[in-house]
Amino acid sequence: MNNLIELINAELPQFQCGRCDTPGCRPYAEEIVKGSPHNRCVPGGQDTLIKISNILGKDSILLDEDYGPELKPQVAHIIEEDCIGCKKCIDACPVDAITGSANLMHNVINDLCTGCELCIEPCPVDCIELIEVEKDQSLKVRNHSEYFFNLKIELHNRKKKKSKMNKNIAENLDIADSINQKLKNRNIDKEASLRNLQIEILESQKNEKHIKSSDLEVLKKQL
Ligand code: SF4
Ligand code: SF4
Ligand code: SF4
Repeated sequence: MNNLIELINAELPQFQCGRCDTPGCRPYAEEIVKGSPHNRCVPGGQDTLIKISNILGKDSILLDEDYGPELKPQVAHIIEEDCIGCKKCIDACPVDAITGSANLMHNVINDLCTGCELCIEPCPVDCIELIEVEKDQSLKVRNHSEYFFNLKIELHNRKKKKSKMNKNIAENLDIADSINQKLKNRNIDKEASLRNLQIEILESQKNEKHIKSSDLEVLKKQL
C-alpha cells in the first residue's frame, strides 16, 4: 500500500495547492489509494491523469474540471512598487516561497515557488504577476516542494502549540493568583478551634470518666 502511495505521489505535479480537496499531493495520493476518484488533480493535466490511471490499472477518464485550472510552468513575481506589505500572500503560500515583513516590500524566492497561483487572489492590490518559465526549471522546484510544504505545516503547528502553552501558562498563573489571594484572606481562629476541640473531647469523656455536669462547666470555663 505504501509503495502504491509513493508511486502515485511521484506522478503528481507537486504544486501542493490543495485543489484536489486534500491539503497537498501526498495526502491526495493516500486518498486515491483509499478509493477516492483519481481525476481531481487538474493542475497536473491529462498527462498526470493518464500516468495515475496506468499505475492503478484503470481506464483513462477525463479530468474533473470542478477541481481547478491546469497550471503552466511558472513563477510568481511581486511588483515591488505596488506592494503594501500586508503579508496576505505569505499566509496563502503553501511552501513559504515569499519573504517580507509587515508593511515592507515582499519578494518571491524563485527556487521555492511552484507557480501554484494561491497567492494571487488574496493580494488586495493585485501586485502579483505570473511569469512563464522552462518546464525543467518548474519541475526542479516542484521536486522538492513536499519538503518545504511539510516544513510550513510543522512551523505552523509549533506556533499553535506555543500559543496554546502560553495561554495555559497565563491561565495557571491566574489560578495561582486567586488561590494565593483566598489564602491571604482566610481568617482562621486557631485558638477558638483548639478550644472547641477540647470541649468536644471533654463532652465525649463525660460518661466514661464520671464527670459531673457542674464540674464539666467549670472545666470548660478554664479552657
Ligand atoms: S498539485 Fe494540487 S491538486 Fe494536484 S495533487 Fe497536488 S495538491 Fe492536489
Ligand atoms: S509564491 Fe505564490 S505561486 Fe509561488 S508557490 Fe507561493 S503561493 Fe504559489
Ligand atoms: S499580498 Fe500583495 S500587497 Fe500584500 S504583501 Fe503580498 S504582494 Fe504585497
